[in-house]
Amino acid sequence: EKVDFVQYFHHIIDRFEMNKSEDILFERQFPRDHVLVWLDKDKMTQVIDNIISNAIKYSPEGGKITFKIVKERRRVVISIADQGVGIAKEKVDKIFERFYRADKARSRNLGGTGLGLAIAKELVEAHNGHIWAESKEGKGTTILFVLPLMQKKRRNR
Ligand code: ATP
Ligand code: MG
Repeated sequence: EKVDFVQYFHHIIDRFEMNKSEDILFERQFPRDHVLVWLDKDKMTQVIDNIISNAIKYSPEGGKITFKIVKERRRVVISIADQGVGIAKEKVDKIFERFYRADKARSRNLGGTGLGLAIAKELVEAHNGHIWAESKEGKGTTILFVLPLMQKKRRNR
C-alpha cells in the first residue's frame, strides 16, 4: 500500500503519546514534504511498535525520545533515539538475533521474549530495507532503518 511515511509515523507516535504514563518527552524531526513509500502497514506498525516500546522500556524518567525522518534521493532513513541504559558495543549487533536479550537480569524484570527486534529485522528486510542500532552504554540507543522511496514515474528516460 502506498503510504506517506510522515503522516503514518505521526499517527503511531500520537498513539504512544496518548497512552504513555511515564515522564518521557517525545521530539519529532520530520521533513515538510511527503515521503512516499510502499508499506504493508500492519507489518510495519509491528516493527515500529516494538522499537518504540523498547525505547520507552529502557528510558530513564525525564528522558527524551527523538523521532527522525530523513529523506534522501532514493531512500528514507527513520531513526528512534532514546537516552536510556544503552547497549555494550560487543552486544549491539546481537540484539537483532532471536531470543537475544542484552542484560539478562535487567531484561527479565522488564519482561519480553527477545523476539521483537528479530521480527523487526525480518519485516524491514521484507520491505527491501535494512535496520541497525547505534548505542553507547549509559548514553542511549538509536535504532535506524531505511526504506526505499517510491520512485516518481518519469517519461523520457
Ligand atoms: P520483546 O520485544 O519480544 O517483548 P525484548 O524487548 O526483550 O522482548 P527485543 O525487542 O528483540 O526483545 O530486544 C532485544 C534486546 O535488545 C532487549 O532485551 C534489550 O536487551 C536490548 N534492547 C532493545 N532495545 C533497546 C533500547 N532501546 N535500549 C537498550 N537496550 C535495548
Ligand atoms: Mg522489544
